[in-house]
Amino acid sequence: MREKLVAGNWKMHGNLAENKQLLSAISAGLNGLNGAKFAVCVPYPYLSSVQNMLQDTDISWGAQNVSQYEKGAYTGEVSVSMLDDFECTYVIIGHSERRTLFGEDSYAVAEKYVTAQRAGLTPILCVGETLEHREAGITEQIIQEQLTAVVNVAGIESFSKAVIAYEPIWAIGTGKTASPQQAQDVHAFIRNGIATQDINIAKELTILYGGSVKANNAAELFAMPDIDGGLIGGASLVANEFIAICRALSN
Ligand code: PEP
Repeated sequence: MREKLVAGNWKMHGNLAENKQLLSAISAGLNGLNGAKFAVCVPYPYLSSVQNMLQDTDISWGAQNVSQYEKGAYTGEVSVSMLDDFECTYVIIGHSERRTLFGEDSYAVAEKYVTAQRAGLTPILCVGETLEHREAGITEQIIQEQLTAVVNVAGIESFSKAVIAYEPIWAIGTGKTASPQQAQDVHAFIRNGIATQDINIAKELTILYGGSVKANNAAELFAMPDIDGGLIGGASLVANEFIAICRALSN
């Protein structure tokens, strides 16, 4: 059966003391929740302490980026084997902030995705359109291009061990959420596109929605048939918000 997932993306927020408070509240709040998986993707320097805090809970952890290179003279980069040292389950790949602010192109994103999978990490591959794309009526074309770049490098079968996050860029951190129907339409487009190549992989593929998901809109988004959970930015830093979002997904 298709897995449901809520993953927090802390971005460049937190410190040791705040993280400790946040995670102890979240792990208490999620204790006993069934029917979905929960994870936090944290800044690299906190992986060790987050690992220590979460290793006896059902909450997984991961990173927000990784190098496409295995090792070598790449100053400032972090490799998949380093993430593996901290027992990461997930790594976010191709977040729109990486693509737009740090110049990651579709090819680099695809290489990172492959490198992560090869190391046994589950990539959370982000795709999404800008407001200009949406208004120009080319949302599907943009999503298709972003997915094709990955399929060309990794193959369609790679989606049996990956998560896709549809994140309309105009909804990230803006307080503007895609309506449940707008999100569902794109999720269905993604799933149907994959189904044309492999129906079983498409059926089992977890597709998250991300973009200003909050406690007060999570349930209606998660009720849509092709939305299998959320990638949560701002609200993942507020324990009660994150817990309520996770509750909206679980049984
Ligand atoms: C994100 O960073 O992936 C995200 C969806 O952020 P927010 O929930 O704050 O819009």
